[in-house]
Amino acid sequence: MGMKPGAGMKADAVVVGAGVVGAAVARALAVAGRRVVIIEQGVPGGAVSGASLACIGTHMMDEDELPLLKWCCDEWAAFAEAAPDFEYSRCGQLRFLKQESERRSADEWIGIETAAGLSPTLLDPEAVRRIEPELTGPIHAATWSPNSAVVNPFLAVRRLLEAAQAARATLVSRNPATALRVVGGRIAGVETADGPIEAGIVVIAGGPWTAKLAATAGVQLPIVPRKAQCLATVSVPRSIRTVVGACKAEGGVDAGYTQIQQAMSGQILFNTVLEGGVTAAGSPDDIPEVDRAFIRDSIATLLFLFPKFAEIDLLRSWVRYEAVTPDDRFLTGPAGPDGLFVAAGDGGTGFVRSLGMARIIADLVAGRESPFRRDLYDPARFDRRAAA
Ligand SMILES: Cc1cc2nc3c(=O)[nH]c(=O)nc-3n(C[C@H](O)[C@H](O)[C@H](O)COP(=O)(O)OP(=O)(O)OC[C@H]3O[C@@H](n4cnc5c(N)ncnc54)[C@H](O)[C@@H]3O)c2cc1C
Repeated sequence: MGMKPGAGMKADAVVVGAGVVGAAVARALAVAGRRVVIIEQGVPGGAVSGASLACIGTHMMDEDELPLLKWCCDEWAAFAEAAPDFEYSRCGQLRFLKQESERRSADEWIGIETAAGLSPTLLDPEAVRRIEPELTGPIHAATWSPNSAVVNPFLAVRRLLEAAQAARATLVSRNPATALRVVGGRIAGVETADGPIEAGIVVIAGGPWTAKLAATAGVQLPIVPRKAQCLATVSVPRSIRTVVGACKAEGGVDAGYTQIQQAMSGQILFNTVLEGGVTAAGSPDDIPEVDRAFIRDSIATLLFLFPKFAEIDLLRSWVRYEAVTPDDRFLTGPAGPDGLFVAAGDGGTGFVRSLGMARIIADLVAGRESPFRRDLYDPARFDRRAAA
């Protein structure tokens, strides 16, 4: 933890950022035998990753990404077997419908996921209560995806870093990479206030700060920061067993986004963002306040579903900046000078995808084919669309 860059610090690869994506990339490269330095400007997991609800699932996510998402869920389960505890719990996920008009979308998603070998089902309110007894609000129905899991986000990042360090990766904390080094058109490492770290490969996994660092080598990336907010109640006895969300439907459940779950500490963690899930952009260096409308809508949804919590006390709220691209998919792959890669732009669901992004980077560095569609994440995809 206490390593400092300085004269002569050399590696095969520098990974910038110790959020869940950088930690996963560092682990994948180190396990593949590369000498890795991972550099973090703050504390590992201290940006959006540690503030995540960290649901690991495939349900109603992205049809094109389903194979990768399935692979990621299996990898998380395998990592939970191998690594010391990070509170991995395969609790399943419910997505509620308020009215019959949302049914078509629910049926479509169930069809897509069933064809992909998953087993979601549609439940009536009585069946929902057999799974989630306290969900007594007046819902119309809910989809049920039994394979979704949750993890403790801080512990998960820590375990990934420990696995990277066990494979001889070096972690440098509280030390920003201030610029990329480019020599003769090739990447040559990063600059820090304490001196350079030399490496022929640099992977920027800097979340919403990624575009700023890439720009130091003249690389423009379409990543913008977006506010992500959450609320937590005081601890209460185990009441919510699953991850509860709104059905993903055009105009459905007020066209919003909801996630409610109970942490192992007993705190209920919840957020509802209406109007299509879009919150304000800003600078990732701001310390913004939680929006009042967000608090109101989040409480209203919690109480609509779980009226028994009408008297529960709120404990805390937080805001982080997640990295967003124009199509809400990661930019993962080569960018700009030879040796430079990025893995950022999570669109708000990067925890589950992090292991897949790490696999893509490790395959690219090793010159191997990936089992996934790399074109979905190619950082150059927007340039090509603009040129067409
Ligand atoms: C409330 C909430 C709920 C969420 N729920 C889910 C969920 O259920 N499932 C899911 O999959 N995802 C979820 N997410 C999203 C998920 O947490 C993020 O997609 C994921 O954590 C992004 O990880 P990251 O490593 O890309 O980013 P970050 O965690 O932001 O990591 C980037 C790191 O890079 C460092 N860095 C940047 N620039 C530099 C530099 N120049 N030098 C050194 N270090 C640098 C930063 O300090 C930071 O630590 C949620 C997010 C929030 C806020």
